[in-house]
Amino acid sequence: MKEFDIVVIGGGLAGSSTALNLSKKGYSVLIIEKEKGENIKPCAGGMASSMKKFLPLDINEAIESKIMNVEFRWKSSDNVVADLSGESPFWIVRREKLDKLLLNEALKYGCEILRPAQVEEINPQNKNWIIKCSNKITYKSKFLVIADGSQSKWAEYLKLGPRKPKFANTLAIRLKGLGNIPKDSVRFEFGFVKYGFAWAFPLKDSVNIGLGTFINNKSLEDADLNNKVIKSFGFEDLSFQTVHKRLRIWNGIHKLNGDRVILVGDAASLCDPFLAEGIRPSLISSYYAAESIDQCLCTNNNDLNNYSTIINNEWGKSMAWGKRIAQIFYRFPRTGYQLGVKRKTAPQRIAQILSGEMNYEDIAKRVIKRLLTKSKD
Ligand SMILES: Cc1cc2nc3c(=O)[nH]c(=O)nc-3n(C[C@H](O)[C@H](O)[C@H](O)COP(=O)(O)OP(=O)(O)OC[C@H]3O[C@@H](n4cnc5c(N)ncnc54)[C@H](O)[C@@H]3O)c2cc1C
Repeated sequence: MKEFDIVVIGGGLAGSSTALNLSKKGYSVLIIEKEKGENIKPCAGGMASSMKKFLPLDINEAIESKIMNVEFRWKSSDNVVADLSGESPFWIVRREKLDKLLLNEALKYGCEILRPAQVEEINPQNKNWIIKCSNKITYKSKFLVIADGSQSKWAEYLKLGPRKPKFANTLAIRLKGLGNIPKDSVRFEFGFVKYGFAWAFPLKDSVNIGLGTFINNKSLEDADLNNKVIKSFGFEDLSFQTVHKRLRIWNGIHKLNGDRVILVGDAASLCDPFLAEGIRPSLISSYYAAESIDQCLCTNNNDLNNYSTIINNEWGKSMAWGKRIAQIFYRFPRTGYQLGVKRKTAPQRIAQILSGEMNYEDIAKRVIKRLLTKSKD
């Protein structure tokens, strides 16, 4: 049996960054990842540069665009542009590169990875976890990190996070060229996708296009809709490949830790239920997960409750308002666009949300009141 201080299940963004944070502190860490690697990640890669403070390394190599403007449109017209002037507060990263950077750095610090491998059984035993894998080797660890993403099997097994996880349906397309998207702008396109929106985030020489629907699990398997969206972003060649993914979104304040176990990233249901932002909470949760585990290992105790409290305070409170805004905005999108996006002060507020300077709690009460009164008119 091989022994580690920490076993991390899932070697994506949240898993690799937690592993890096912990290996840097000198702990022995094993990541168990089910995929071989090399797949394109269905993620548009938009992240607030303010997340630098939660990143355990310089990620310059993975940043492909620095964004100065955010464009909003309603059915290809009625444009609104939010200026993110000053030092670029919003970056587009190539997710495959970012995840690789984090993983390679963790490996440099002595972290090990087992891939491709499936975890078959997890059992607590005498203040340790016993983890049985598809390679028939058994691993023992003092702490366990669950980072197996949106389709997390282990969060439910350990009865952590929401009892009934909520999902957004998403569809991702990566196209060569930039279409009509300026190199330093991202675009949010409303009105085409029911209960959601479409986005186009530029990489160096391609664009990450996405469609997301956040309530009622509306299907996105609709060629006409996809073609309309692609054309609106300035692409003519309609022979693209799509990747569908059910994205686990935030659905209430829940316990995100158990005895010697912690959920991070999508497995913890942290993704923003309004805009599908999941990189930021993955990095925040990875950072605090490592801090809490370190604290326990240093003081020889098992109490990780502080982790759930911090994440719920730092992220959950804002998401509670994000969820309310989403439920109203996506039910009355035309009104939402007029009152939430087209207002004089809106572009600046939106820019502040995207850059992490403001959260939904700061703006929500006024926005919801406005939407509710007008949608009844
Ligand atoms: C279409 C789309 C666009 C998005 N765009 C953005 C964006 O622009 N900005 C943003 O902030 N967020 C975005 N997100 C959200 C963001 O991608 C996720 O929140 C983020 O990837 C979460 O990271 P994670 O490590 O928790 O999960 P993942 O990156 O999904 O990693 C989970 C890992 O666990 C592995 N795994 C799964 N099950 C097991 C198992 N049983 N055993 C071992 N390993 C397992 C998987 O193979 C994977 O490597 C987008 C999401 C989608 C779907």
